[in-house]
Amino acid sequence: MPDLTQLTAAPRDTLEELQLALREQQVILDTAGVGIVFIKNRVLVRCNQRFGQIFGHDDVAAMVGSSSRSLYPDEASARKLAEAAYPMMARGLSFKSEVLMKRHLGALFWAHMTGKLVNPADPNEGSIWIIDDIHEKKVAQAQLDSLLHEQTLILDNAMVGIVFLRERIATRCNQRFETLLGYKPGELHGASSRVWYLTEQDWIDATYRCYDPLKAGKTFEEEMVLRKKDGSPVHCDVHAKAIDSNDLSLGSIWIGMDITARKKAENELLQARADLEELVEVRTQELSRTVLALKNKAAEQKIAEAYIQRLAHFDALTGLPNRLLLNDRCHHALSVAQRSKKSVALMFLDLDHFKNVNDSLGHRVGDEVLVELATRLKGAVREQDTVSRLGGDEFILLLPDTDETGASHLAQKLLEIALQPILIEQHELTVTPSIGIALYPQDGADLDALSKSADAAMYRAKADGRNGYRFYTAQIQADSDRILLLDNALRRALERHQLALHFQPQISLISGQIIGAEALLRWTHPELGAVSPSEFIPIAEANGLILPIGEWVMRTATQQLSNWIARGMAPITMAVNLSALQFRLPNMPQLVSRILLDAALPPELLEIELTEGVAMTHPLEAVAVMNELHQRGVRMAIDDFGTGYSSLSYLKAFQVYKLKIDQSFVRDITEDTDDKAIVGAIISMASSLGLQTIAEGVETEGQLEYLRAQGCHEAQGYYFSRPLTAQAFEDFVREQQAPTCAPS
Ligand code: C2E
Ligand code: MG
Ligand code: MG
Repeated sequence: MPDLTQLTAAPRDTLEELQLALREQQVILDTAGVGIVFIKNRVLVRCNQRFGQIFGHDDVAAMVGSSSRSLYPDEASARKLAEAAYPMMARGLSFKSEVLMKRHLGALFWAHMTGKLVNPADPNEGSIWIIDDIHEKKVAQAQLDSLLHEQTLILDNAMVGIVFLRERIATRCNQRFETLLGYKPGELHGASSRVWYLTEQDWIDATYRCYDPLKAGKTFEEEMVLRKKDGSPVHCDVHAKAIDSNDLSLGSIWIGMDITARKKAENELLQARADLEELVEVRTQELSRTVLALKNKAAEQKIAEAYIQRLAHFDALTGLPNRLLLNDRCHHALSVAQRSKKSVALMFLDLDHFKNVNDSLGHRVGDEVLVELATRLKGAVREQDTVSRLGGDEFILLLPDTDETGASHLAQKLLEIALQPILIEQHELTVTPSIGIALYPQDGADLDALSKSADAAMYRAKADGRNGYRFYTAQIQADSDRILLLDNALRRALERHQLALHFQPQISLISGQIIGAEALLRWTHPELGAVSPSEFIPIAEANGLILPIGEWVMRTATQQLSNWIARGMAPITMAVNLSALQFRLPNMPQLVSRILLDAALPPELLEIELTEGVAMTHPLEAVAVMNELHQRGVRMAIDDFGTGYSSLSYLKAFQVYKLKIDQSFVRDITEDTDDKAIVGAIISMASSLGLQTIAEGVETEGQLEYLRAQGCHEAQGYYFSRPLTAQAFEDFVREQQAPTCAPS
């Protein structure tokens, strides 16, 4: 500041003016908002109040005389400033700069300084400096700059498009925004937002739709379809916010995100969901169809089960209860009977020769017969009775509360109703049943036992001439016991050498010579003794043993003949009986040939005896087998002729050599005119067919005479000889050399 005492020497007016100017200057300095300092030779000479404030000095006077260096952070920065400032000031110019300075307590701060030399020609006269504290402004600016920098970074690196709009003009946007809409960098700067709207109307609509929320201080959010530079649409997720909702003119910031891929994924998802729903719908329909089908199937199954149930309990052909249901009913009937001490009858009914109906008229006719019979049987019994069918022509009747009298009454009735002719197609058929009856409790305690008894009784009825009924008796029991016994014993007979052959001579009624032998089987059991073939042959036929036994018979018989001839006996024929089972063996003719070959016998020496039944049951097959045997040279005879039902037409077709007149006709031939006539008829019929005849069971001279008179060729019987052992037969032949036929 100027020293006023030094100005006393100046003229008074001038002095006063000067003093006034100085006072004015002092006021200016004191009220100035900036720091002002006068520096001379690097020393602070004078400064104002503000300067002191800036540098943190309350007492400005204390600063006077201090070095100007203390105003700077260090010596180097002070020097650097001086080097920049003085050359410029020396040219009379002002030096201006922003400089980092140091406050009294050491804190650095930014200041703007302006300096000027008092006399540019002489720096020693000092310089005036104006200092403005710009520290806060500088810091704020730096923060703003860094904020702006960050913002730019964010804008440039954002994964979303960002645009600043002011009055719907893009003032700033990032590259992402431009690429999103297909523009080159910078292309959208200053562009109207209209360019990215698909239509003018869209753009106008957006005015309200978008800006209304912005005005309310809210964020606008929407998925929009924007227009790319090439006109194609792009799906965007758009967010916008006003910079200041009170003043929309300050603009707004918009963020757009390309959601085409997401949209596509969403659409694909939607499509997938729609497809799935459709698939589910289709599957549901399929399922409901399946469920329906299953329901139907279940219903069918039920019907089938009911049918099976019916099948399980009822006979399919006649609708009668079957064995299973009979079992139930019998069980029930027997337990009732047991409690009430009443009797129950079980009846076995079997049709006689039913097989013939099937064989000759066919199964259909046979079935109709069975159905008709079933109806008749059902009609003849009471409500509580059960008529069941076991299969074939076998029926079982369960008659609760029925004793012997009741059962025989019903049996009689059944025989009568069965006898009524049955009309099927053009056939009028008559069937006769055989009935066996067993009574509870005496003939068996359960169905099994009662069945066995009734069955045995039925067989007895058949054996006794059929078309009748028999009650189960002790005798039947004994017989069936014996059958069982023989059945078992017979199984070992062959291997235990209990079987043997006897031979009965056959005599020519013309020459009186022994022209043949019939091989007759003998069984001698160590305990049972001799068992008749009429007893054990049917058993062997029933259990199949007749096959090995029959083969053994044929082998032994042919071997025997071969031996005899070898020992000098004139050749005779050997008759061997053949069972139906053997006859039906598929390779029977071959077997016969092999046996003959093994015995080294010419085939014409073997005569096979078949009963009428064997030939007539399956006549066509029989014809074929007989042809085959005939071709092999073997002779055949029909045994027991006259007892069966030979049809003349078949007889002609059979390759039969001989008819063997059954002994039942021969027996009474001398007394019974019928038998006489029958035998006479057989002989003449045979001769007309060119067949040989042999009579069996010839016991008397009278019988022989009659047969001879009728022209019978041969005879066999006790009159000549009983069946003999091989040795006895050989002896017999030797003894009976004479041509006359003398009794033995
Ligand atoms: P068949 O073939 O009709 O045999 C004749 C039966 O009459 C024989 O009984 C025989 O001994 C008997 N006989 C012979 N002459 C007379 C007589 O003057 N008066 C009486 N009352 N009977 C006489 P056998 O030996 O008891 O045989 C009975 C049946 O057994 C045979 O009847 C035949 O059907 C069968 N048989 C015997 N041996 C065999 C065989 O090896 N195989 C087969 N399948 N059946 C045989
Ligand atoms: Mg015989
Ligand atoms: Mg016979």
